[in-house]
Amino acid sequence: MRVIVIGASHAGIGFVDAMRRNGFDGELVLIDSLVGQPLERPPLSKAFLCADGEDDGRFALRKADWFADNRIELIDGCRVAAIHPDARQIETASGEHMSYDRLVLAIGATPRRLPAAAHMSGVFELRHPDDAAGLRAAAADASSAIVIGGGYIGLEVAATLVKSGKDVTVIEAAPRLLARVASPAISSFFAGLHADAGTKVITDAGVEDIAADHGGFSHVTLSDGRQLLADMLVVGIGVTPETALAEKAGIETGNGILVDSDMQTSMAGIYAIGDGALQRDSAYGIRIESVHNAQDSAERAAATINGHAPPAVQAPWFWSEQFGLRLQSAGIVPAAADDLVCLRRPGKRADGFSIWSFRGGELCAVEAVGDPAGYMLGKACLEKGLSPTHDSVTDAAFDMKAFVAAK
Ligand SMILES: Cc1cc2nc3c(=O)[nH]c(=O)nc-3n(C[C@H](O)[C@H](O)[C@H](O)COP(=O)(O)OP(=O)(O)OC[C@H]3O[C@@H](n4cnc5c(N)ncnc54)[C@H](O)[C@@H]3O)c2cc1C
Repeated sequence: MRVIVIGASHAGIGFVDAMRRNGFDGELVLIDSLVGQPLERPPLSKAFLCADGEDDGRFALRKADWFADNRIELIDGCRVAAIHPDARQIETASGEHMSYDRLVLAIGATPRRLPAAAHMSGVFELRHPDDAAGLRAAAADASSAIVIGGGYIGLEVAATLVKSGKDVTVIEAAPRLLARVASPAISSFFAGLHADAGTKVITDAGVEDIAADHGGFSHVTLSDGRQLLADMLVVGIGVTPETALAEKAGIETGNGILVDSDMQTSMAGIYAIGDGALQRDSAYGIRIESVHNAQDSAERAAATINGHAPPAVQAPWFWSEQFGLRLQSAGIVPAAADDLVCLRRPGKRADGFSIWSFRGGELCAVEAVGDPAGYMLGKACLEKGLSPTHDSVTDAAFDMKAFVAAK
C-alpha cells in the first residue's frame, strides 16, 4: 500500500512516524512545497529569532537520516496542485501524477494578510522557517518594530525583539491581549509582563492605514489618527486553514477540511490532520491550532488506517514562552461567555500560579504560568471530567493531587 502525505510539518511528520510505530510496512511518501529539512514551528517566534542562523538544523523536526532510516521518501520543494480522487492520484505543480492508496492532507494554514501592506518590503508574517529567517535578518538592522496582533505569536515575537533591545509597539484590535485564546487574568498577566519589559501595547486600536516610503514600510496610522513609525512591521493576526486543494477535489470543507473523529474526510481514502482539519463532532466546535493537536490527529489517522484502536482522548494543550516565563494551558477558554468564572490558584513556587476557568459550573480550562504541577493537575481534572469546587481551587492548602487520585 502507498500512502502519500501532503505537508511535512508537525502533523505530516507526526503521521508518518506513527505509521511506522504502528508497524505499517508499505510505502510512505511525504511531500512539501518548502525547500529543505522540515523545521519545528514553535521556536520560529522564540529561540530561532535570536539564533545566529549558522545552525538552524538544531530546530529540525527529525534528523536528516531519520527519513531514510524509516523508509520515508521526503520530496521537498514540490507543491501539490490538484487531487484526482476518482483516479486516486495527486498532481504536482509541475504536472507530475502520483498514485496513492491513501492520501493524508497535512497542509496546515496560511497567515491572514493585510491588503494595505501587500507588496511592501519590511513587512513580515510568520508561519514557516523562511518567514522567520527573513524577519530575523531584518531585525538585525532594525531598532524599532510594530507588531499588529496581540495573540500568542505576536506577543512572542514582541518579547523576543524587546529582549534584543528593539523598541516594540504591539497593536491589538480587541480590548485586551490574547482575547480569543486566554482568560482575562492571563491577558492582564501578559500585559503587565510586557509593560514591565518596555513593550508598548495599544489595545482597542483600529488600523486605518499602512504606509510605505519608496516601497518599504514606513508607518501605521491608527483609526484615532495616531501615526506610529518603525523600521519594520510584523503582522500576526491569525490564520486561515488551507482548504482550496480539498475543495477543488470535491471534499467537504468549512472553516477547515471537515473530518470525522477518525480524521476521515468526506472522500473515501482521504484523511486530513493538523491545523487545517476541523472535526465535525468536536466537543469544542473550533479548529485547534497547536503542536499537540497536530500530533494527536496524526496518531488518530494512523490508527484508523492501520485498523488499530484510537489513542485515548486528551484535553487539548498548548504552551507559550515570553521573557523566560512558560505558560502551559489545557482545555479551551471560550472566547466569549457570560457565565465564565476564572479563579486563581497559587502555585508551588512563589511566582507561579494557575487560572482555573469554569463555564456553567464545569471546569473548561486551566492556564498555568511557572507552575507545571498546577498545569498537570488541571489537565488531569479535565481529562477525568472533574470539577473541583471554587473554594478548593483558591485554597492553596487543598490537596488537588489527592482529589484527582481519588476519582
Ligand atoms: C511562529 C509559530 C509559533 C508557534 N508556537 C507554538 C507553541 O508555542 N505551542 C504550540 O502548541 N503551537 C505553536 N504553534 C502552532 C503549531 O506550530 C502549529 O499548530 C503546527 O505547525 C501545525 O502543524 P501542521 O502540520 O498542521 O501545519 P503547518 O505547520 O502549517 O504545515 C503545513 C505544511 O504543509 C505544506 N503545504 C501546504 N500546502 C501544500 C501543497 N499544496 N503542496 C505541498 N505542501 C503543502 C506547507 O508548506 C507546510 O510545510 C506555533 C506556530 C507558529 C507559526
